[in-house]
Amino acid sequence: MKEITNKELLKIAANFGTPTYVYHAEKIIDQYQKLKNSFPEVKVHLHYAMKALNNINVLKLLKAQGCGLDAVSIQEVYLGLRAGFEAQEIMYTPNCVDFDEIKEAVELGVMINIDNISILEQFGSYYGDSVPCCLRLNPHIMAGGHSHISVGHIDSKFGISIYQLRHVQRVVQSHKIKVNGLHMHTGSDILDADVFLRGAELLFDAAESFPDLEFMDFGSGFKVGYKDGDIVTDINSIGQRISGAFKEFCGRYGRELELWFEPGKFIVSESGSFLVKANVIKQTTSTVFVGVNSGQNHLIRPMFYDAYHHIENISNPEGIKRLYSVVGYICETDTLGYDRQLNEVREGDVLRIKNAGAYGFTMSNNYNARLRPAEVLYYKGQAHLIRKAETLEDVYRNEIEVEI
Ligand SMILES: *Cc1c(COP(=O)(O)O)cnc(C)c1O
Repeated sequence: MKEITNKELLKIAANFGTPTYVYHAEKIIDQYQKLKNSFPEVKVHLHYAMKALNNINVLKLLKAQGCGLDAVSIQEVYLGLRAGFEAQEIMYTPNCVDFDEIKEAVELGVMINIDNISILEQFGSYYGDSVPCCLRLNPHIMAGGHSHISVGHIDSKFGISIYQLRHVQRVVQSHKIKVNGLHMHTGSDILDADVFLRGAELLFDAAESFPDLEFMDFGSGFKVGYKDGDIVTDINSIGQRISGAFKEFCGRYGRELELWFEPGKFIVSESGSFLVKANVIKQTTSTVFVGVNSGQNHLIRPMFYDAYHHIENISNPEGIKRLYSVVGYICETDTLGYDRQLNEVREGDVLRIKNAGAYGFTMSNNYNARLRPAEVLYYKGQAHLIRKAETLEDVYRNEIEVEI
Protein backbone atom coordinates (compact mmCIF):
# COMPACT_ATOMS: atom_id res chain seq x y z
CA MET A 1 0.00 0.00 0.00
CA LYS A 2 1.24 3.48 -0.90
CA GLU A 3 1.40 5.83 2.09
CA ILE A 4 -0.02 9.32 1.79
CA THR A 5 2.79 11.75 0.95
CA ASN A 6 3.66 14.99 2.68
CA LYS A 7 3.09 16.77 -0.62
CA GLU A 8 -0.51 15.53 -0.68
CA LEU A 9 -0.95 16.55 2.96
CA LEU A 10 0.34 20.05 2.19
CA LYS A 11 -2.19 20.29 -0.60
CA ILE A 12 -4.95 19.30 1.84
CA ALA A 13 -3.73 21.92 4.32
CA ALA A 14 -3.81 24.54 1.57
CA ASN A 15 -7.32 23.54 0.42
CA PHE A 16 -9.01 22.91 3.75
CA GLY A 17 -6.89 24.98 6.13
CA THR A 18 -5.48 23.98 9.50
CA PRO A 19 -5.97 22.51 12.01
CA THR A 20 -7.38 19.49 10.16
CA TYR A 21 -7.51 15.78 10.80
CA VAL A 22 -6.71 13.71 7.70
CA TYR A 23 -7.45 9.98 7.50
CA HIS A 24 -6.04 7.75 4.80
CA ALA A 25 -8.82 5.31 3.87
CA GLU A 26 -6.60 2.67 2.24
CA LYS A 27 -4.53 2.46 5.41
CA ILE A 28 -7.68 1.75 7.44
CA ILE A 29 -8.73 -1.01 5.05
CA ASP A 30 -5.20 -2.41 5.02
CA GLN A 31 -5.04 -2.63 8.81
CA TYR A 32 -8.48 -4.25 8.98
CA GLN A 33 -7.47 -6.87 6.41
CA LYS A 34 -4.12 -7.48 8.07
CA LEU A 35 -5.76 -8.23 11.40
CA LYS A 36 -8.62 -10.20 9.92
CA ASN A 37 -6.19 -12.44 8.02
CA SER A 38 -3.88 -13.10 10.95
CA PHE A 39 -5.95 -15.84 12.54
CA PRO A 40 -5.64 -18.98 10.48
CA GLU A 41 -8.24 -21.75 10.61
CA VAL A 42 -10.65 -20.09 13.02
CA LYS A 43 -13.83 -18.10 12.42
CA VAL A 44 -12.61 -14.65 13.35
CA HIS A 45 -14.87 -11.65 13.52
CA LEU A 46 -13.85 -8.04 14.18
CA HIS A 47 -15.95 -5.39 15.88
CA TYR A 48 -14.35 -2.01 15.39
CA ALA A 49 -14.20 0.01 18.64
CA MET A 50 -15.85 3.11 17.26
CA LYS A 51 -14.90 5.35 20.16
CA ALA A 52 -11.47 5.63 18.50
CA LEU A 53 -12.87 7.46 15.48
CA ASN A 54 -16.57 7.60 14.71
CA ASN A 55 -17.04 9.70 11.57
CA ILE A 56 -19.86 8.14 9.53
CA ASN A 57 -17.62 7.77 6.47
CA VAL A 58 -15.04 5.78 8.40
CA LEU A 59 -17.81 3.57 9.81
CA LYS A 60 -19.22 2.98 6.31
CA LEU A 61 -15.77 2.14 4.99
CA LEU A 62 -15.40 -0.56 7.64
CA LYS A 63 -18.95 -1.79 7.19
CA ALA A 64 -18.17 -2.36 3.51
CA GLN A 65 -15.25 -4.56 4.60
CA GLY A 66 -17.58 -6.77 6.61
CA CYS A 67 -16.55 -5.39 9.98
CA GLY A 68 -18.91 -5.15 12.96
CA LEU A 69 -18.98 -2.45 15.63
CA ASP A 70 -18.24 -2.18 19.32
CA ALA A 71 -20.19 0.65 20.93
CA VAL A 72 -19.72 1.88 24.49
CA SER A 73 -22.69 4.22 24.76
CA ILE A 74 -26.25 4.23 23.45
CA GLN A 75 -25.30 7.29 21.42
CA GLU A 76 -22.56 5.31 19.69
CA VAL A 77 -25.13 2.58 19.00
CA TYR A 78 -27.30 5.15 17.20
CA LEU A 79 -24.31 6.45 15.23
CA GLY A 80 -23.59 2.89 14.14
CA LEU A 81 -27.17 2.30 13.02
CA ARG A 82 -27.13 5.63 11.21
CA ALA A 83 -24.01 4.51 9.33
CA GLY A 84 -25.91 1.48 8.05
CA PHE A 85 -24.85 -1.28 10.42
CA GLU A 86 -27.48 -3.88 11.22
CA ALA A 87 -28.37 -3.93 14.90
CA GLN A 88 -27.08 -7.48 15.24
CA GLU A 89 -23.66 -6.39 13.94
CA ILE A 90 -23.25 -4.05 16.91
CA MET A 91 -22.01 -5.15 20.29
CA TYR A 92 -22.92 -2.77 23.09
CA THR A 93 -20.32 -2.83 25.88
CA PRO A 94 -21.36 -0.21 28.41
CA ASN A 95 -20.10 0.33 31.91
CA CYS A 96 -21.89 2.06 34.76
CA VAL A 97 -24.96 2.93 32.67
CA ASP A 98 -28.57 2.95 33.79
CA PHE A 99 -30.44 -0.29 33.05
CA ASP A 100 -32.86 1.74 30.91
CA GLU A 101 -30.07 2.30 28.42
CA ILE A 102 -29.53 -1.44 28.16
CA LYS A 103 -33.25 -1.99 27.62
CA GLU A 104 -33.16 0.60 24.86
CA ALA A 105 -30.29 -1.25 23.19
CA VAL A 106 -32.11 -4.60 23.49
CA GLU A 107 -35.17 -3.09 21.85
CA LEU A 108 -32.99 -1.90 18.99
CA GLY A 109 -31.74 -5.46 18.62
CA VAL A 110 -28.05 -4.93 19.36
CA MET A 111 -25.98 -7.46 21.28
CA ILE A 112 -25.43 -6.77 24.94
CA ASN A 113 -22.24 -7.18 26.91
CA ILE A 114 -22.80 -7.06 30.67
CA ASP A 115 -20.05 -5.98 33.00
CA ASN A 116 -21.68 -5.89 36.41
CA ILE A 117 -23.52 -8.46 38.54
CA SER A 118 -26.27 -6.05 39.58
CA ILE A 119 -27.01 -5.35 35.91
CA LEU A 120 -26.93 -9.08 35.18
CA GLU A 121 -29.57 -9.61 37.89
CA GLN A 122 -31.77 -6.88 36.43
CA PHE A 123 -31.25 -8.30 32.95
CA GLY A 124 -32.20 -11.78 34.17
CA SER A 125 -35.33 -10.64 36.00
CA TYR A 126 -36.45 -8.61 33.02
CA TYR A 127 -35.63 -10.91 30.11
CA GLY A 128 -35.11 -14.37 31.60
CA ASP A 129 -34.05 -16.67 28.77
CA SER A 130 -35.62 -14.58 26.01
CA VAL A 131 -32.61 -12.35 25.23
CA PRO A 132 -29.05 -13.67 25.28
CA CYS A 133 -26.13 -11.65 26.58
CA CYS A 134 -22.37 -11.71 26.69
CA LEU A 135 -20.44 -11.37 29.97
CA ARG A 136 -17.48 -9.07 30.33
CA LEU A 137 -15.07 -10.76 32.71
CA ASN A 138 -12.00 -9.26 34.27
CA PRO A 139 -9.20 -11.84 34.39
CA HIS A 140 -6.98 -9.42 36.37
CA ILE A 141 -3.99 -9.61 34.15
CA MET A 142 -1.86 -6.54 33.71
CA ALA A 143 -1.53 -5.17 30.23
CA GLY A 144 1.46 -2.89 29.66
CA GLY A 145 2.88 -0.68 32.35
CA HIS A 146 0.73 2.40 32.09
CA SER A 147 -1.93 2.70 34.74
CA HIS A 148 -4.33 4.81 32.66
CA ILE A 149 -4.72 2.26 29.92
CA SER A 150 -4.72 -0.94 31.92
CA VAL A 151 -8.27 -1.95 32.54
CA GLY A 152 -7.82 -5.59 33.58
CA HIS A 153 -6.13 -5.19 36.97
CA ILE A 154 -7.60 -5.84 40.39
CA ASP A 155 -8.83 -2.31 41.06
CA SER A 156 -10.31 -1.69 37.66
CA LYS A 157 -13.95 -0.62 37.38
CA PHE A 158 -14.36 -2.69 34.22
CA GLY A 159 -15.82 -6.16 33.98
CA ILE A 160 -16.97 -8.79 36.44
CA SER A 161 -14.11 -10.26 38.42
CA ILE A 162 -13.21 -13.78 37.42
CA TYR A 163 -13.21 -14.49 41.19
CA GLN A 164 -16.95 -13.80 41.25
CA LEU A 165 -17.67 -16.55 38.77
CA ARG A 166 -19.59 -18.66 41.31
CA HIS A 167 -21.89 -15.74 42.03
CA VAL A 168 -22.34 -15.10 38.31
CA GLN A 169 -23.26 -18.74 37.71
CA ARG A 170 -25.91 -18.60 40.42
CA VAL A 171 -27.48 -15.49 38.91
CA VAL A 172 -27.36 -17.04 35.43
CA GLN A 173 -28.92 -20.30 36.61
CA SER A 174 -31.64 -18.77 38.72
CA HIS A 175 -32.85 -16.55 35.85
CA LYS A 176 -32.03 -19.10 33.10
CA ILE A 177 -30.01 -16.40 31.31
CA LYS A 178 -28.62 -17.48 27.96
CA VAL A 179 -24.97 -16.46 27.96
CA ASN A 180 -23.86 -16.45 24.33
CA GLY A 181 -20.37 -15.05 24.75
CA LEU A 182 -17.54 -14.35 27.16
CA HIS A 183 -15.56 -11.18 26.80
CA MET A 184 -12.40 -9.62 28.15
CA HIS A 185 -10.69 -6.38 27.28
CA THR A 186 -7.58 -5.93 29.32
CA GLY A 187 -6.31 -2.62 28.06
CA SER A 188 -4.57 -1.14 25.13
CA ASP A 189 -0.96 -2.10 25.57
CA ILE A 190 -0.56 -5.82 25.36
CA LEU A 191 2.99 -6.40 24.27
CA ASP A 192 3.13 -10.08 23.69
CA ALA A 193 1.10 -13.19 23.13
CA ASP A 194 1.86 -14.52 26.61
CA VAL A 195 -0.18 -11.87 28.42
CA PHE A 196 -3.01 -12.28 25.96
CA LEU A 197 -2.99 -16.04 26.27
CA ARG A 198 -2.93 -15.99 30.06
CA GLY A 199 -6.19 -14.03 30.00
CA ALA A 200 -7.57 -16.27 27.28
CA GLU A 201 -6.87 -19.43 29.30
CA LEU A 202 -8.83 -18.02 32.22
CA LEU A 203 -11.77 -17.38 29.91
CA PHE A 204 -11.48 -20.88 28.46
CA ASP A 205 -11.71 -22.31 31.97
CA ALA A 206 -14.69 -20.11 32.76
CA ALA A 207 -16.40 -21.25 29.54
CA GLU A 208 -17.02 -24.70 31.00
CA SER A 209 -19.78 -23.20 33.13
CA PHE A 210 -21.63 -21.75 30.12
CA PRO A 211 -23.04 -24.30 27.66
CA ASP A 212 -24.70 -21.82 25.24
CA LEU A 213 -21.62 -19.94 24.03
CA GLU A 214 -21.42 -18.89 20.41
CA PHE A 215 -18.30 -16.70 20.61
CA MET A 216 -15.39 -15.59 22.75
CA ASP A 217 -14.47 -11.92 22.55
CA PHE A 218 -10.90 -11.01 23.43
CA GLY A 219 -11.36 -7.25 23.23
CA SER A 220 -8.35 -5.37 22.00
CA GLY A 221 -4.84 -4.61 23.13
CA PHE A 222 -3.20 -4.55 19.73
CA LYS A 223 -0.37 -2.09 19.85
CA VAL A 224 0.82 0.01 16.93
CA GLY A 225 4.10 1.91 16.75
CA TYR A 226 3.97 5.57 17.70
CA LYS A 227 7.70 6.11 17.31
CA ASP A 228 10.76 4.33 15.92
CA GLY A 229 11.80 1.47 18.15
CA ASP A 230 8.37 1.01 19.77
CA ILE A 231 7.49 -2.58 20.42
CA VAL A 232 4.43 -3.32 18.31
CA THR A 233 2.15 -6.32 18.45
CA ASP A 234 3.55 -8.95 16.11
CA ILE A 235 0.17 -9.68 14.67
CA ASN A 236 1.22 -12.77 12.74
CA SER A 237 2.84 -14.51 15.63
CA ILE A 238 0.11 -13.55 18.12
CA GLY A 239 -2.51 -14.60 15.57
CA GLN A 240 -0.94 -18.02 15.10
CA ARG A 241 -0.70 -18.65 18.82
CA ILE A 242 -4.19 -17.43 19.71
CA SER A 243 -5.71 -19.40 16.84
CA GLY A 244 -3.92 -22.53 17.98
CA ALA A 245 -5.06 -22.11 21.58
CA PHE A 246 -8.59 -21.28 20.47
CA LYS A 247 -8.91 -24.32 18.23
CA GLU A 248 -7.74 -26.51 21.07
CA PHE A 249 -10.30 -24.90 23.37
CA CYS A 250 -13.12 -25.41 20.85
CA GLY A 251 -12.18 -29.09 20.72
CA ARG A 252 -12.50 -29.35 24.49
CA TYR A 253 -15.72 -27.30 24.53
CA GLY A 254 -17.19 -29.60 21.89
CA ARG A 255 -18.25 -26.94 19.40
CA GLU A 256 -16.62 -24.49 17.02
CA LEU A 257 -17.11 -20.99 18.42
CA GLU A 258 -16.35 -17.66 16.75
CA LEU A 259 -13.30 -15.71 17.84
CA TRP A 260 -14.00 -12.00 18.22
CA PHE A 261 -11.83 -8.93 18.69
CA GLU A 262 -12.60 -5.23 19.11
CA PRO A 263 -9.67 -3.26 17.75
CA GLY A 264 -9.73 0.52 17.74
CA LYS A 265 -6.20 1.88 17.56
CA PHE A 266 -4.90 -0.92 15.39
CA ILE A 267 -7.42 -0.12 12.68
CA VAL A 268 -7.30 3.68 12.58
CA SER A 269 -4.35 5.13 14.51
CA GLU A 270 -1.77 5.11 11.74
CA SER A 271 -4.23 6.26 9.10
CA GLY A 272 -4.50 9.66 10.76
CA SER A 273 -2.41 12.80 10.43
CA PHE A 274 -3.28 15.93 12.32
CA LEU A 275 -2.15 19.03 10.44
CA VAL A 276 -1.44 22.17 12.44
CA LYS A 277 0.25 25.46 11.66
CA ALA A 278 3.17 27.02 13.50
CA ASN A 279 1.78 30.32 14.76
CA VAL A 280 4.86 31.50 16.58
CA ILE A 281 8.43 30.57 17.32
CA LYS A 282 9.23 31.58 20.88
CA GLN A 283 12.74 31.49 22.25
CA THR A 284 13.05 31.39 26.05
CA THR A 285 16.24 31.10 28.09
CA SER A 286 16.38 27.32 27.74
CA THR A 287 13.94 26.25 25.05
CA VAL A 288 12.74 27.08 21.59
CA PHE A 289 8.97 26.67 21.49
CA VAL A 290 6.83 26.22 18.43
CA GLY A 291 3.35 27.46 19.30
CA VAL A 292 0.74 25.92 17.01
CA ASN A 293 -2.88 26.71 16.17
CA SER A 294 -4.16 23.75 18.18
CA GLY A 295 -3.59 22.09 21.53
CA GLN A 296 -5.06 19.77 24.12
CA ASN A 297 -8.53 20.75 22.95
CA HIS A 298 -7.89 18.86 19.69
CA LEU A 299 -5.38 16.17 20.63
CA ILE A 300 -5.33 15.36 24.31
CA ARG A 301 -3.42 12.06 24.26
CA PRO A 302 0.02 13.59 24.88
CA MET A 303 -1.22 15.31 28.06
CA PHE A 304 -3.76 12.72 29.18
CA TYR A 305 -1.75 9.55 28.62
CA ASP A 306 1.73 10.94 28.21
CA ALA A 307 1.48 9.55 24.69
CA TYR A 308 4.19 10.17 22.13
CA HIS A 309 3.02 11.43 18.74
CA HIS A 310 5.69 11.86 16.11
CA ILE A 311 5.82 15.36 14.61
CA GLU A 312 7.28 16.45 11.27
CA ASN A 313 7.67 19.84 9.64
CA ILE A 314 6.28 19.07 6.20
CA SER A 315 6.69 22.64 4.92
CA ASN A 316 10.47 22.63 5.21
CA PRO A 317 11.67 19.05 4.73
CA GLU A 318 15.17 20.14 3.72
CA GLY A 319 15.63 22.58 6.60
CA ILE A 320 18.41 21.94 9.10
CA LYS A 321 17.36 20.00 12.17
CA ARG A 322 16.81 21.99 15.34
CA LEU A 323 15.46 21.14 18.76
CA TYR A 324 11.97 22.36 19.64
CA SER A 325 9.16 21.87 22.09
CA VAL A 326 5.87 21.92 20.25
CA VAL A 327 3.10 23.46 22.34
CA GLY A 328 -0.54 24.38 21.89
CA TYR A 329 -2.38 27.69 22.23
CA ILE A 330 -4.55 26.63 25.18
CA CYS A 331 -4.04 28.29 28.56
CA GLU A 332 -2.64 25.10 30.05
CA THR A 333 0.72 23.44 29.68
CA ASP A 334 -0.38 21.62 26.58
CA THR A 335 2.84 20.23 25.21
CA LEU A 336 2.35 18.14 22.09
CA GLY A 337 6.01 17.15 21.88
CA TYR A 338 9.07 17.80 24.09
CA ASP A 339 12.55 18.23 22.69
CA ARG A 340 11.81 17.23 19.15
CA GLN A 341 14.27 17.35 16.30
CA LEU A 342 12.39 19.12 13.54
CA ASN A 343 13.53 20.58 10.26
CA GLU A 344 13.82 24.28 11.00
CA VAL A 345 10.34 25.61 11.75
CA ARG A 346 9.31 29.00 10.43
CA GLU A 347 6.14 30.80 11.43
CA GLY A 348 3.42 29.62 9.04
CA ASP A 349 4.90 26.13 8.46
CA VAL A 350 2.56 23.13 8.54
CA LEU A 351 3.41 20.42 11.05
CA ARG A 352 2.17 16.86 10.70
CA ILE A 353 1.32 15.06 13.93
CA LYS A 354 1.24 11.34 13.23
CA ASN A 355 -0.86 8.45 14.57
CA ALA A 356 -3.73 10.85 14.97
CA GLY A 357 -6.47 8.53 13.69
CA ALA A 358 -7.41 7.02 17.05
CA TYR A 359 -8.68 9.02 20.03
CA GLY A 360 -7.85 12.31 18.33
CA PHE A 361 -10.99 13.96 17.06
CA THR A 362 -13.30 11.86 19.26
CA MET A 363 -11.61 13.20 22.41
CA SER A 364 -11.58 16.82 21.24
CA ASN A 365 -13.47 19.50 23.13
CA ASN A 366 -14.27 23.20 23.26
CA TYR A 367 -12.01 24.27 26.12
CA ASN A 368 -11.04 27.94 25.89
CA ALA A 369 -14.09 28.28 23.61
CA ARG A 370 -11.96 26.91 20.80
CA LEU A 371 -13.61 25.19 17.85
CA ARG A 372 -13.25 21.54 16.90
CA PRO A 373 -11.32 21.10 13.65
CA ALA A 374 -12.34 19.70 10.27
CA GLU A 375 -11.89 16.07 9.21
CA VAL A 376 -10.78 14.98 5.74
CA LEU A 377 -10.84 11.46 4.27
CA TYR A 378 -8.22 10.73 1.63
CA TYR A 379 -9.45 7.89 -0.58
CA LYS A 380 -8.27 6.77 -4.02
CA GLY A 381 -6.12 9.86 -4.39
CA GLN A 382 -8.96 12.26 -3.56
CA ALA A 383 -9.40 14.38 -0.45
CA HIS A 384 -12.99 14.58 0.82
CA LEU A 385 -14.13 16.95 3.53
CA ILE A 386 -16.04 14.67 5.93
CA ARG A 387 -16.66 17.13 8.76
CA LYS A 388 -16.70 20.88 8.68
CA ALA A 389 -14.74 22.77 11.28
CA GLU A 390 -17.02 24.12 13.99
CA THR A 391 -18.13 27.70 14.11
CA LEU A 392 -18.56 29.88 17.17
CA GLU A 393 -22.29 29.24 16.97
CA ASP A 394 -21.67 25.54 17.66
CA VAL A 395 -20.04 26.52 20.94
CA TYR A 396 -22.95 28.54 22.32
CA ARG A 397 -25.78 26.69 20.56
CA ASN A 398 -27.29 25.24 23.74
CA GLU A 399 -26.70 28.18 25.98
CA ILE A 400 -29.81 29.83 27.41
CA GLU A 401 -29.60 33.46 28.31
CA VAL A 402 -32.03 34.27 31.14
CA GLU A 403 -33.27 37.48 32.67
CA ILE A 404 -32.08 37.51 36.28
C1 LIG B 1 -11.62 1.09 23.89
C2 LIG B 1 -12.05 -0.29 23.76
C3 LIG B 1 -11.50 -1.10 22.77
C4 LIG B 1 -10.45 -0.65 21.78
O1 LIG B 1 -9.18 -0.43 22.32
P1 LIG B 1 -7.98 -0.03 21.36
O2 LIG B 1 -6.82 0.12 22.25
O3 LIG B 1 -8.31 1.25 20.68
O4 LIG B 1 -7.79 -1.10 20.36
C5 LIG B 1 -12.00 -2.39 22.67
N1 LIG B 1 -12.96 -2.85 23.51
C6 LIG B 1 -13.50 -2.09 24.48
C7 LIG B 1 -14.55 -2.65 25.36
C8 LIG B 1 -13.05 -0.80 24.65
O5 LIG B 1 -13.58 -0.04 25.62
